[in-house]
Amino acid sequence: MNTYSIIKNKQAGKENTSSELNFLIQSFLNNNLPSYQMSAWLMATFFKGMSEKETIIYTKEIIDSGEKIKFRNLDQKKIIDKHSTGGVGDKVSFVLGPILAACGFYVPMIAGRGLGHTGGTIDKLESIPGYNTNMEIDKFKSIVKKIGISIISQTEKICPADKLIYSLRDVTGTVESIPLICGSILSKKIAEGISTLILDVKYGNGAFMPTIQEAEALGNMLKKIGENFKIKIYPNYTSMDQPLGNACGLWCEIEESINALKGNGPEDLMKVVKYLGVKALTKLNYKNPEKKINEVIANGSALKIFYKMIKEHSGKIESNQTINKPKYETLLLSPYDSTINSIDTKQIGLTLTEIGAGRKISSDSLDFSAGIIFEKKCNSIVKKGEIIARIFCSNKNKLKKGEILLKKSILFSKEESKLLPLIYKG
Ligand code: URA
Repeated sequence: MNTYSIIKNKQAGKENTSSELNFLIQSFLNNNLPSYQMSAWLMATFFKGMSEKETIIYTKEIIDSGEKIKFRNLDQKKIIDKHSTGGVGDKVSFVLGPILAACGFYVPMIAGRGLGHTGGTIDKLESIPGYNTNMEIDKFKSIVKKIGISIISQTEKICPADKLIYSLRDVTGTVESIPLICGSILSKKIAEGISTLILDVKYGNGAFMPTIQEAEALGNMLKKIGENFKIKIYPNYTSMDQPLGNACGLWCEIEESINALKGNGPEDLMKVVKYLGVKALTKLNYKNPEKKINEVIANGSALKIFYKMIKEHSGKIESNQTINKPKYETLLLSPYDSTINSIDTKQIGLTLTEIGAGRKISSDSLDFSAGIIFEKKCNSIVKKGEIIARIFCSNKNKLKKGEILLKKSILFSKEESKLLPLIYKG
């Protein structure tokens, strides 16, 4: 088989066959295919797409690049996960995951690093000193069974092909592709051994699918492909038309998540967490789901589970205040008496990459202290000189560049904002 002709077939808009996809993925996995050829195939797929049949085969090839977890002796209905299609300030997993575990579910979550302009669950977790995101499958399973949740990355043993392709897509502009997103998300979710997936499909100017229609096309395809692999998929649609919550970045998002689990989460974040949480609990016939969610936040059991998970992963988080303190910080002040009309959320994601919270090339190292905290968001009325946001990191030059980008991302106007709804109910 010839990689060049596999790329040319895709470039010409033809379906790749099962043996072509198998050859491509296996060769890449075994280091027999250079990343420039894989990048060319990804770009051809980005432009030409895949049929449904091809997407199923592609997903299966990624799953089969590693092992598939089985949780024997557990009630299969209770093995559940949530996954977002990607956003800025999207820390829902850190809040909802422990809530679901506190409600009696088992959440074996395999997540990814930053992708394109969006932040990565794994990068954020690694801002916790010592947190191990790469462990043996048996250890992962034992943590899930013991405390109800474990969050790890793709590993050498589980979805290794997604691990490699994901980091290539991150830096080659090949993220916003429905079949590539389906293969990436669903391979992880099917391999982790769940029965039910609550999907958070994002729309808005910071999402991979900016319009609700595009998000629905992605949600429908994720459902179709996932159900082919016999897992129940529930797509939900929530906004990424401005950052979610107030904190965007790495460690600062962990801090905001801890505050949310203490009952002090920002309103928009908590609305999304509870909306998805209620969907999860209802699907499994929970009575009074919202009351139960409020209960596990109020009695501290969800927070306790988050801390336990960190400990099981060798993370140390006792002295919050001194962790990842940024060396430099700048305030973004309002230049006018006005109203914030819109925030270019994708640009905020790119600003975060600029200050070290994301990667420009795969080998870039991250600055865990980097982030932005919004004090005002869309539709806030602001006075000249009032603080809109704080931007911080540990590299002075990067901060300067970030500050310029951040300024350009915020538009003011007295006109009413055309902000998309936080939750789209169809
Ligand atoms: N999340 C993933 O895991 N993969 C994607 O491609 C997008 C979001």
